[in-house]
Amino acid sequence: MSKMTPQQYMERESKYGAHNYHPLPVVLERGQGVFLWDVEGKRYYDFLSAYSAVNQGHCHPKIIKAMCEQAQKLTLTSRAFYNNVLGEFEEYVTKYFGYDKVLPMNTGAEADETALKLCRRWAYRVKGIQDGEAKIIVCENNFHGRTITVISMSTDPDSYGGFGPYTPGFIKIPYNDLAALEKALQEPNVAGFLVEPIQGEAGVFVPDEGYLKKAYDLCKKHNVLFIADEVQTGIARTGKMLACDHEGVRPDILILGKAISGGAMPVSCVLADDEIMLTIKPGEHGSTFGGNPLAGKVAIAALEVVKEEKLAENAERLGKIFRDEMKSIKSNMIELVRGKGLLNAVVIRNKPGKTAWDVCLAMADKGVLAKPTHGNIIRFAPPLVITEEQLREAIGLIKEAFNQFE
Ligand code: PLP
Repeated sequence: MSKMTPQQYMERESKYGAHNYHPLPVVLERGQGVFLWDVEGKRYYDFLSAYSAVNQGHCHPKIIKAMCEQAQKLTLTSRAFYNNVLGEFEEYVTKYFGYDKVLPMNTGAEADETALKLCRRWAYRVKGIQDGEAKIIVCENNFHGRTITVISMSTDPDSYGGFGPYTPGFIKIPYNDLAALEKALQEPNVAGFLVEPIQGEAGVFVPDEGYLKKAYDLCKKHNVLFIADEVQTGIARTGKMLACDHEGVRPDILILGKAISGGAMPVSCVLADDEIMLTIKPGEHGSTFGGNPLAGKVAIAALEVVKEEKLAENAERLGKIFRDEMKSIKSNMIELVRGKGLLNAVVIRNKPGKTAWDVCLAMADKGVLAKPTHGNIIRFAPPLVITEEQLREAIGLIKEAFNQFE
């Protein structure tokens, strides 16, 4: 078959695929490190990293090697039997993050669901809340995925609208508001507080310094589990291994996904100590693919890369350069620059013909890929393997794109 044009690729997706995404008009076929190439051979800096799943860079050789070697031996047994890799992964990941136990799943949303089930189970079996009565506090503008229960926690009509009825048992409070948390904790039957250390999908909202620590302390005071969704912020993205590490907080339940596989395949997991994890018994939760040997080997390699290549340190150092440079751009379209490590956002003052979407199109034209969120916010999150030289080159291209609108 002769090679198709970008337009033909896009039309085929539109014709045969559900219309649940609105992609930038770029058709990609190859990735290596911080770069992506489209079907016509044009090279781009990736400043989305598949929503922070590709922290280790595209097709990292160590991760792909581990993947190929394991793929030729054994990919899936289900949990009906033991396999020789799962325990290795479980030991590695629990020691890496300092927890008694891990429960492996596949997607971020599944890991969030797992955390909710664990929290409710702990409430009934350990805390002593009456069965069916547990409540979990969540934050407005959260993003934890797309399942029915997860969207039941959402305050974004695009996420939950038209999909009811919803799962009960959640108390929604404003993010970054300790007084609201303290008040909600007074309600009877509260079992957990689920929070993103930085709200990524909402537009990279960084809470006030001290928020996480104080929220954690309040939870402890009320015997409530502090549950951190680090699916987007974890694995070195914000300049520490976990975003909670910035405040020395160790969540009671830690939710990880995305970059735990370096973007090679869906891997997620939930970490907790025995008091919580052992409340779920055989047959009460699981997933056919969760904990498969292919995922295990891929995740070990991906986590090794994070330490070997000092990705947290790189994110911390280059993030500061990125924010300083973006703040120095003289454009009346830029309202605000914020973020931590290499999870950053620029808030755009949208005007006709000068929207965040238009800026993203102009950046793509220059060779930098990023995507707007919520209409006027552009997230900038390159793979953490980016070098200072590459970052500065990409910043130059981003500046050129902004200049076009002056
Ligand atoms: N939790 C957070 C904080 C996320 O940012 C996301 C995805 O963006 C998810 C959960 C859902 O992950 P997945 O798309 O793998 O289900």
